[in-house]
Amino acid sequence: MVARILDGKVIAQEIQAEISRSVAAHVAAGGPTPGLAAVLVGEDPASEVYVRNKQRACKRVGIASSLHRLPQLTSTDELLDFVGKLNEDSTIHGILVQLPLPQQVDAARILDAIDPAKDVDGFHPYNVGLLSQGRARFLPCTPHGILQILARCQIDITGKHAVILGRSDIVGKPMATLLSQKDSPVSPQCCNATVTLCHSRTADLPSITRQADLLVAAVGRAKFVTAEMIRPGAVVIDVGINRTDNGIVGDVDFAAVSAVASAITPVPGGVGRLTVTMLLANTLVSAGGKLTS
Ligand code: NAP
Repeated sequence: MVARILDGKVIAQEIQAEISRSVAAHVAAGGPTPGLAAVLVGEDPASEVYVRNKQRACKRVGIASSLHRLPQLTSTDELLDFVGKLNEDSTIHGILVQLPLPQQVDAARILDAIDPAKDVDGFHPYNVGLLSQGRARFLPCTPHGILQILARCQIDITGKHAVILGRSDIVGKPMATLLSQKDSPVSPQCCNATVTLCHSRTADLPSITRQADLLVAAVGRAKFVTAEMIRPGAVVIDVGINRTDNGIVGDVDFAAVSAVASAITPVPGGVGRLTVTMLLANTLVSAGGKLTS
């Protein structure tokens, strides 16, 4: 079997075109231009790239973006003050504090301080609570992007066994929540899965991954998922972004797993493209707009 490539680049372009039209319609109807403020503390090179990509994407779709750079030695209190000002700014509809933050900053206090109505990453406990009750205001960007890939590639996961590797707050846990829910804000085919959430203490991981109809890998280890861990015909979503001497690779051994899976996302050019795109969609929604295809 040679897996179908689920091309995140093409899907992201399609959705960004929809966002661009939706932003224009929202503004033409008298709505405010959606505004996204990114806060970057220190000089982490990977964060610089992520923030730059987000700013470029904002520009493409007509969202006003601003970048606020704060020094590496910024304290928790200083950053709290800064976030407070962005909360009060009516031209800002989305606030993005780029992670990771320097060690001296209490990241949880910062994320808790973002106005939940402007929390376009969907990390605030209030928004996590809404998500877990199936009435999310903002879907977290990476899991949302994965649902968009599944929906737009007509992959039906109803009644299927979804195995998720990784239980982070930003990918694994919300992914498990969304896939296991009764209804989906994205498509009726993207919910009602039976979900197994795995982590570093999971015993005999390959025996579980081999049961997966859908495998979502968010572990942060280059080529961690091998062909032997895949049930023939499974759909494999690779969230990992791992920097190696040979460039960026995912959590999945792409070449080997492509020979066993029925469909797979590449890295780069897969989930990452959608993460940025769904941030734009959340900013539009936060400004009172609606994403229409
Ligand atoms: P994270 O916070 O680093 O957590 C990694 C998870 O993997 C943890 O739950 C950990 O288990 C689990 N894990 C580690 N080693 C394992 C093993 N040997 N067996 C089973 N599970 C294991 O992860 P994250 O923030 O979700 O990121 C994961 C990857 O996705 C990274 O490469 C990151 O760069 C990438 N990422 C990509 C995007 C995108 O847009 N494409 C977005 C976000 C993240 P424990 O909980 O037990 O420690």
